[in-house]
Amino acid sequence: MRLPNFEYIAPKTLKEASKAFALDAKGSALIAGGTDLIVNMKHRVIQPKQVINLKTIPKLASISWGKDGLRIGALATLHDIASSSIIQEKFPVLCQAAREVGAYAHQAMGTLGGNLCQGNRCRFYNQSAFWRGVKPLCYKAGGEVCHVVRKPKECHSTYCGDMTPVLIALEAQVKVVGPEKERIFPLIKLYTQDGKKPLSLRKGEILKEILLPPSSGKTLYLKWRRRDSIEFPIVSLALNLEKDENERIQKARIIFSAVGSGPVEASEAEKMLKNSFLDDQTIEKISTQAVKEISPMRTSIHSPAHKREIAGILLKEGLKKLTESH
Ligand SMILES: Cc1cc2nc3c(=O)[nH]c(=O)nc-3n(C[C@H](O)[C@H](O)[C@H](O)COP(=O)(O)OP(=O)(O)OC[C@H]3O[C@@H](n4cnc5c(N)ncnc54)[C@H](O)[C@@H]3O)c2cc1C
Ligand code: SF4
Repeated sequence: MRLPNFEYIAPKTLKEASKAFALDAKGSALIAGGTDLIVNMKHRVIQPKQVINLKTIPKLASISWGKDGLRIGALATLHDIASSSIIQEKFPVLCQAAREVGAYAHQAMGTLGGNLCQGNRCRFYNQSAFWRGVKPLCYKAGGEVCHVVRKPKECHSTYCGDMTPVLIALEAQVKVVGPEKERIFPLIKLYTQDGKKPLSLRKGEILKEILLPPSSGKTLYLKWRRRDSIEFPIVSLALNLEKDENERIQKARIIFSAVGSGPVEASEAEKMLKNSFLDDQTIEKISTQAVKEISPMRTSIHSPAHKREIAGILLKEGLKKLTESH
């Protein structure tokens, strides 16, 4: 499959990239590792007039540890993360999640920024132009209908990233650079939960850095997929628990991926966990509640009922694992 024609821009600084991006945000695409973008361009899902390469900008891939915690440049590859000794020491779960993305080639090329900003997926959208041509264009592709829900002007395409749930569970913040200024905000706010425009980035804004405060809790990541390689999650779960000296839970984050148009936090289940002990009854109650808080759609071959069932199984397994580990 050939790429469509486009103008190639190789900026030397982030400001330069951001200005070029802001000039024609709708007609431009940023490229980092290209493992998501190139496939979408070949499928004609995205046809930008200009492609702005972030890899030509130096110093965007550094990984460092300081008094405020960990800083990861948006251009750090998943392989850089998986093989970083400082991340292995401070946040081993991040190395594990990076190793679970696609296949090794995706990890070697794919960047953290690209992983967080990857396009939402839908079985009616992530297809070749020929395949999509059989049905009327859907709302996300510029048409009027949705082949998943019968409501016009709504898109429920699904966010399937592996790194985001873990980073949110670890309270990550992101630094973005726009044509005029920078801003820092919690990673969870990067996601709008609108399948047509899934990211809250403003005109010309580019992700520069991911910031992680030191963590005192325990975190795990569980990914359910059909094959052990080259597979987006059917459902995945990041879980972070902080307990007091009596093993009573003080703080919990329960974040799912692949069950909504962005990462989904089971906030009510988190509140129910506070001040409780992890016995079998609590685990059952929390899993039942968390499953009520997700609304997966038929955007893949897996039914919403199947995804709900898997989400419940993952959460029970995760809570049990964290009960057993001291
Ligand atoms: C077969 C296959 C399997 C895959 N499996 C998985 C999987 O299991 N788990 C998973 O999470 N992903 C998976 N992916 C998706 C993708 O490979 C990864 O998410 C990868 O990390 C994307 O990073 P990238 O640098 O290649 O992104 P790119 O393709 O370069 O960019 C992706 C998107 O993010 C935007 N972007 C990139 N960098 C920035 C930035 N700094 N600021 C703002 N926007 C930016 C781009 O404009 C583009 O829209 C898979 C892809 C394929 C093709
Ligand atoms: S959910 Fe509907 S509008 Fe969104 S990509 Fe799928 S078919 Fe298109």
